[in-house]
Amino acid sequence: MTDFSGTKGDFKTALTVGPAMYHREVNHGALIIATGALEYKPKEYLYGESDAVKTQVELEDILSREESRIKGWKNVVMIQCVGSRNQENPNCSRVCCQQAIKNAIAIKEINPDINIFILYRDIRTYGFLEDFYRKAREMGIHFLRYREDEEPTVEQEEGKIQITFKDLTLGREIKMSPDQLILSAGVVAGDTQELASILKVPLTSERFFLEAHVKLRPVDTQSDGIFICGMAHSPRLIDETISQALAASSRACTLISQDAIEVGGV
Ligand code: SF4
Repeated sequence: MTDFSGTKGDFKTALTVGPAMYHREVNHGALIIATGALEYKPKEYLYGESDAVKTQVELEDILSREESRIKGWKNVVMIQCVGSRNQENPNCSRVCCQQAIKNAIAIKEINPDINIFILYRDIRTYGFLEDFYRKAREMGIHFLRYREDEEPTVEQEEGKIQITFKDLTLGREIKMSPDQLILSAGVVAGDTQELASILKVPLTSERFFLEAHVKLRPVDTQSDGIFICGMAHSPRLIDETISQALAASSRACTLISQDAIEVGGV
């Protein structure tokens, strides 16, 4: 998108399209921002330095393509709240607890003898997702709690990673050397600043698009005719994203279904 102008019911967006960078102009009555978000790229826990350290999204890639690799693992550790609920990003990323539990269950189904340890601060499995938490415990997946101010540490010795953390229940320091360490990396906004300045829509301090009113206009922006849904707005689960997308498209339809729209003086 290179340019954006107009008013609700009569927007004009300029785009450069495809490898040949063709210039296109599109006239439209409403606009829905659904740009999504990104997985945080960890700077901690030897991510990027050891091949034994992956994120949950990278684990999902292994789960879909390399079952034989998972069958060779004996111990897996997952660390929750990586890049979330800290000073830099105070928000809960909302998706990573259920993602860790879903992936842990998938690993157990492929390799039932594996030991999986999930190191967490709080488990936030909303609503019926609690059933998956219960199922994971019944399958023998271990949940070990650590304190916010006593985060696990990860070192590498002779190519093997070693995790040290203080278990809150036992009150003791525990060391583990798993085959694979999986980081439940949080959700961060993508490169939203340029788009926000083109659309003249404000962002939150975490660079997500800001709604006009949290209760009364939750999918509207402060610019009439521009709506938001999904992770462009904040970290959220897929069913919440679908509900918000339905709300945003309904709001857009109330605008574009009209034969004529009255606008105030500019
Ligand atoms: S969803 Fe769970 S792992 Fe993710 S930030 Fe929230 S509490 Fe931490």
